[in-house]
Order: sequence, then structure tokens, then C-alpha cells
Amino acid sequence: MAVIIDGKALAKKIRENLKKECEELKQKGIIPKLAVIMVGDNPASKVYVKNKSKACEEIGINYEEYLLEENTTQEQLIDLIQNLNKDKTVNGILLQSPIPDHLNINQAIKAITYSKDVDGFTPSSIGKLMIGEDTFISCTPYGVIKMFEEYNIDLTGKNVVILGRSNIVGKPLLQCCLNKNATVTVCHSKTKDLIEYTKRADILIAAIGKSKFVKKEMLKDGVVVIDVGINRGEDGKLTGDVDFDEVEKIASYITPVPGGVGPMTIAMLMNNVIKATNIQYSNTKLF
Ligand code: NDP
Repeated sequence: MAVIIDGKALAKKIRENLKKECEELKQKGIIPKLAVIMVGDNPASKVYVKNKSKACEEIGINYEEYLLEENTTQEQLIDLIQNLNKDKTVNGILLQSPIPDHLNINQAIKAITYSKDVDGFTPSSIGKLMIGEDTFISCTPYGVIKMFEEYNIDLTGKNVVILGRSNIVGKPLLQCCLNKNATVTVCHSKTKDLIEYTKRADILIAAIGKSKFVKKEMLKDGVVVIDVGINRGEDGKLTGDVDFDEVEKIASYITPVPGGVGPMTIAMLMNNVIKATNIQYSNTKLF
């Protein structure tokens, strides 16, 4: 039976440390602030945003929400981002995805000033990650890396297979694992003979958004399995992209859903807000 990687407990520990850092900042008269922009009415986004605001409250980060109408124009969205860029009381800016189809998300993300890019989605953050410079790492990949570190899972020389190539999960994870000296393969919906790749994985990371897609026949014994997927069933229950009940029998380590990568993503967002605040109040020329 696999060791269950307890993302919930690790995230709690990280938030407790961040709370202490936040208290130290307060003693210097600094209260970090996160601004979150949501466009339109998306029930899943509302849940994610609520969890982010709860985490901010717990740690002592000020939280401000901007709810824009579904018919918001690109210009209005960019105007808001530019105002938040200029606002010295705002340390981090997050644009909650998805946004309505008539808006250009890449252009909106590019408008976020690099020093407030707590999601790590701007081309500057991604470019710096690629060349191995200190930067904001997007929260889900960063959370996964923290789990490896906490459980002493060394990536050096390991075959890491990532399922999914999105800009927010798969692609930054590829770079994070490469930076940890893994040999990385990224698979996607056009990959042929997927099992040929998954069978060779020492570490498998699933981020495709398909409930219980990864079965034990696709994996070798002793594999480390990280399940990023969050799928809500008709009964309201959350499942991952991995068939947990059967895969846990052959894996050496596995993350559950819920209670795995999800809480880590929020903890790393909080980490990035505190990091942004520290940088903005220091003379660091990191950016
Ligand atoms: P996207 O829909 O943006 O990307 C999904 C990726 O999976 C695509 O690259 C797609 O390939 C690939 N894919 C789809 N089907 C298959 C298949 N059968 N075989 C191989 N690859 C496939 O999703 P996200 O990256 O945004 O999210 C992925 C999952 O992770 C979702 O369940 C999401 O809810 C969850 N998530 C969880 C987070 C957390 O905190 N735990 C944070 C962010 C996301 P192609 O590019 O060819 O279309």
C-alpha cells in the first residue's frame, strides 16, 4: 500500500509559517494585499475564490475581490489591471480563469505587472522559470514540488511523465521537474500509445481533467503518483484523474483527491503574495 501524501497537512504547515511572516510584516506596518478579479458568473470559480479569501483571512492578508459583469470589454478589464498595477496597497493580482470567450486571457495576463504576478502566469515569470532564475512559480506546479521536497522524493534521474500540457499546470510542471534533474515526458490528447509512456514512469503526474482515467494497468509497481485533477461528479463528489482505490495498491506514494494538490495550490498562492510583498518593500532588484 502506498504512502498517502497529505497535502492538507503540509498546506496547513505552510500557512502557519506564512502567518508568522505576515505578523512580522505587520510589525513593520505592512499588510499584504491580494486583489482577485473574476469576470462573469462561474460557480466553480466562486468556490475557488472563496477558498482563496478564507486562506488570506487566516494568514492576515488583505483580500479584495473585483466582480466584473459577463459583458465586460477587454479594455475595461485591462484598465482595471493597470489601476491595480499602480495601486501601492495591492501586492498581488490574480485573474481567476475561466473568463468569458470574447475576452483574450493571454493579453489580460500580460497586462499584470511582473512584480505582482502571484499566479506566475506572465511571460516574464515563465521565461525566468525556464532559465532557472528566481521568480513566481505558478501555484499548482510549485505545490507539487513542495510535496516532493517534504516527502524526500528525489527527482534526479527519474522518469517523470506528465499527463496534460496546459499553460497553468503541465508546461510549468515540465520546467519545475527539469530543474530538479528529472527526465520529463509530457503527454497530451494527441499522444499515441499513452501506456507506452505511463508504464515507464517512475513518477506520474496526472493533470487532464478526466475522472479516474489513470488505471493500475497503465503503471509500474512502486510508481509515485501525483493527481492534480479535480472532477466533480453528478453526486457533487470530487474525484481525481487517477483511480485512487486501485492505483494506491501498487504505488509507493500517492496524493488523494480531495486533500492532495488542491490545498497546496492555495498555500503556494499565499506564499507568492508574501514573496511579492517582501520584494516590493525591499530594494531587491530581483525583478
Ligand atoms: P486543461 O483542460 O487546460 O488541459 C488538459 C490537458 O489534458 C490538455 O493538455 C489535454 O491535451 C490533456 N488531455 C486531455 N485528455 C487527455 C487524454 N485522454 N490523454 C492525455 N492527455 C489528455 O486543464 P488544466 O491543466 O487547467 O487542469 C487539468 C486538471 O487539473 C483539471 O481537472 C483541473 O480541474 C485540475 N486543476 C487542479 C488544480 C489544483 O489545485 N489541484 C489547479 C488547476 C487545475 P490537449 O492539449 O491535446 O488538449
